[in-house]
Amino acid sequence: MRKSHLIKPVLGNDYPVISHGKGIYLYDKDGKQYIDGSSGAITANIGHGVEEIAEAMWNQAKHVSFVYRSQFTNEAAERLAEKLAEYAPGDLNSVFFVNSGSEATETALKIAIQYFQEQGIHTKNKVLSRWTSYHGITLGALSMSGHPLRRQRFSSLLEDFPVAPAPYCYQCPLKDTYPGCGVRCADELETIIQAIGPEQIAAFIVEPVIGASGGAIVPPDEYYTKIRSICTKFNILMIADEVMTGMGRTGKMFAMEHWDVIPDIITLGKGMSAGYTPMAATIISDRVMKEIENGSKIIMGGHTFSANPQSAAACLAVIQFMERNSLIENTETIGEYLLNSLQRLQWKHSIIGDIRGKGLLCGVEFVKDPITREPFEISSKVTERLLSICFEKGLLVYPAVGGVTGFSGDSILVSPPLIITKEQVNDIIDILDHAVGELTSLLIT
Ligand code: PLP
Repeated sequence: MRKSHLIKPVLGNDYPVISHGKGIYLYDKDGKQYIDGSSGAITANIGHGVEEIAEAMWNQAKHVSFVYRSQFTNEAAERLAEKLAEYAPGDLNSVFFVNSGSEATETALKIAIQYFQEQGIHTKNKVLSRWTSYHGITLGALSMSGHPLRRQRFSSLLEDFPVAPAPYCYQCPLKDTYPGCGVRCADELETIIQAIGPEQIAAFIVEPVIGASGGAIVPPDEYYTKIRSICTKFNILMIADEVMTGMGRTGKMFAMEHWDVIPDIITLGKGMSAGYTPMAATIISDRVMKEIENGSKIIMGGHTFSANPQSAAACLAVIQFMERNSLIENTETIGEYLLNSLQRLQWKHSIIGDIRGKGLLCGVEFVKDPITREPFEISSKVTERLLSICFEKGLLVYPAVGGVTGFSGDSILVSPPLIITKEQVNDIIDILDHAVGELTSLLIT
């Protein structure tokens, strides 16, 4: 075979060559069909091969594909910003476009620090996050991520930002039990802030539903209301990283709407373009923007491709498609169906410890012992093996592991495109059922 010059995620592994995609299906060059049970990386929200998105990009490209944001604004980006501001809660009315989720969270970090600097406060330059979190791969975003596996190689370059415990009830980091705990993980944030000194902290960043590092961890209902009031009390901005949860994925446009909590900054990526083009955004509240407008007037975070007209045209077409097909409503109903179906698998397979999620962001956690919730040893490679059995059977699911035994064990995300039907959910469940059965027999032999 011809030598490949493309660097792959795992060198030496074989990756099938993709041919095309349609709806929830992908096809490789050998004609094998895969159900996209993870929307790639929780991205292909409207499914593959939607021609009207390609047409919208082509129509924009015929006029102009690129302009430099320091020289021109453009109609597509203006309209997209307006649309996002319409959907965003509270006074989140200003949008800064970037190209990836990591850039969106890194921009949020910089804006939070800038907000205080504009007011003459120069000590607030730390961003608190949580253990069991992922906010991106660039150094600023990774500094805010409680993801040991992704941090370990670069620890000397990363800021050691303080971290609060995650609201991870199934494997509670405080070894407590809900509801008797009184949501102690939220109170713990206050203790940490007081120990460090609120004068040093600019923001607290959260994934509304923890995704890549923990497998759709949904906090108790009271959690975010408590977090919001602690942030307000100590003059700390609250950043909701909705890169994975935003754009309808959990059955609301923004996941924070489930708890009626309004953050100061929201980040978006992934589903915003549904994978048709690289595009992401940081949405900023009037309160924060006012300080920047009255101060330096510049956000030092632009990229060459920021607010790209062709990408903006794709994102607008994605939102129109979602609206026309009532995809957010579909996500709520079909998400419930998926969660219930996964729960039925749990009764059947003892290695399934927990099923959780919101909308079509569902997680399955695997444990050695469902009574004690003891995780598998890392060397068992449970998630990796399950992924490869599923792949073989034509189903794509997403690994969600922190990489340290007992930290956030073996979990997968089942997060198909929001267009999925009940019959297609049944197909996913059928394959997963067989795959988990096969894995179980490998683990006991
Ligand atoms: N934030 C969250 C919550 C994510 O899940 C991810 C990616 O998985 C990112 C940020 C980083 O996004 P990207 O991979 O587009 O840089």
